[in-house]
Amino acid sequence: MKSKELLVVLSSPSGAGKTTICQKILRKHKDYIYSVSATTREKRKGEIPGKHYIFLGEEEFNRRIRNNEFVEWAWVFGQRYGTLKKFVNRAKKEGKVALFVPDVQGGMALKRKYPDCILIFILPPSLNELKKRLIHRGTEKKEEMKRRLKTALKEIKFWSKYDYVIINQNISHTVNTVEKIIEAERLQSSRFDFAGWGGKKIKDL
Ligand code: 5GP
Repeated sequence: MKSKELLVVLSSPSGAGKTTICQKILRKHKDYIYSVSATTREKRKGEIPGKHYIFLGEEEFNRRIRNNEFVEWAWVFGQRYGTLKKFVNRAKKEGKVALFVPDVQGGMALKRKYPDCILIFILPPSLNELKKRLIHRGTEKKEEMKRRLKTALKEIKFWSKYDYVIINQNISHTVNTVEKIIEAERLQSSRFDFAGWGGKKIKDL
């Protein structure tokens, strides 16, 4: 019996832990699909092309826009990031859970295009904690970090547009909570394949 796909969008201000949460969920659920975003930003140390991001030059990114390959794309921190249609199509075809980790612009665009996708907003325990995490991460220069913090404050204002809000006090607890949301959402009657279960026969009786 094929399930209906479930598109799950996880957004959070930079440094609130969404990437780690997403990785942990994917490690536990090998059948989930991760939507690998395309970006024009430079690859960071340790990142694997095709796994973490699809790294593209300006020209190639433009070509894909013209080719209509993106569900959405946006400028984030002076670089372009975009969700590729092929991951949504794969999730639909295979009836899978697909995880997306765009910024709030991407989250809003995905909801407009796929109203039955679910939006989860991850908040850090506090603003001070967010600052600490951004400093601790140390992947950015001071100016870049300030810019990220300013953007984070703007992004946080979008919390009420999301279906769920989780305060990320503890990673494993947050992972469990996201898993529970996914489990419950998959059981919604609107996603139930009644015909596949045997409902067709009932009609014939
Ligand atoms: P980073 O460069 O730190 O990995 O990501 C920077 C920001 O880009 C994050 O807020 C992340 O959510 C956002 N981002 C990553 N992929 C996408 C995408 O496909 N679309 C949009 N709109 N934002 C994205």
